[in-house]
Amino acid sequence: MTSTSAIKRVIILGIDGAGAFVKQAPTPHIDALLMEGSQTDRAQTVFPSNSGECWGSLLHGVLPEKHESHLHIKMDNERPISSPTSSLFQILSEAKPDSKMASFVCWRPIQSGVIENNESVHKFAAPDEALVPAIAAYIRSTPDLELLFVQLDDVDAAGHRHGYGSEGHLLAISQADGQIGEICQTLLDAGMLAESLIIITTDHGGGGVDEFDHGSDQPGDMTIFWGCRGPGVAANADLAGLTIMDTAAVALHALGLPIPGDWDGKLPEGLFRGEG
Ligand SMILES: [Zn+2]
Repeated sequence: MTSTSAIKRVIILGIDGAGAFVKQAPTPHIDALLMEGSQTDRAQTVFPSNSGECWGSLLHGVLPEKHESHLHIKMDNERPISSPTSSLFQILSEAKPDSKMASFVCWRPIQSGVIENNESVHKFAAPDEALVPAIAAYIRSTPDLELLFVQLDDVDAAGHRHGYGSEGHLLAISQADGQIGEICQTLLDAGMLAESLIIITTDHGGGGVDEFDHGSDQPGDMTIFWGCRGPGVAANADLAGLTIMDTAAVALHALGLPIPGDWDGKLPEGLFRGEG
């Protein structure tokens, strides 16, 4: 019995454009959720530090030049089912065709440019404030949920509008914290929280070069917050060297699936108790 065998589902809660600024904003819900888990504000995203590249690498476990999600997004193409790399959703649906999976996003291009055209993935796109009740309803109606991806967008919008690290940006991070709290309260009320591996992270930061933008290879854009809790997750594991691509590896491992050998994402050593 491995330490991950008690995990029934993986929930990835993504806050667009939060970078490493999460630690500067009041985030009582995230703090409470990760109290018994592990976190770092020194994880690294991929270059260029833009959403198509970064969410693509988070969900495909490889560098942008391999997943090409950003190119599908730019050309407004649906990602073909036979793409050279597969998202977590595609891998899980091929391994377990009856799996219940969902992607709730504000930034709609993720649904077609990053995630395959896969009928078994429940996809819903709406502004952040409308996402949260929709996610709650989905959780309550889907107790056998195995993979949920959420992308909240207001934090990145606030960074572009007010500056990354500004008061307005940090306020938006606190609001996203409240929404994450609501989602996890729904899991708790449904009796699903204890068996969930929850990853809270972001795609990129901002202000690395331009106070109101991101995309560069500078630390302000590239450095990101990453946290994880759930059955078997070590407390305060050393997550030095963690990259956004490792998110996909952690998720697959938690779902009991092998991590492809050609992935750039790896399972962080020591994240799970008694492993590695
Ligand atoms: Zn942006």
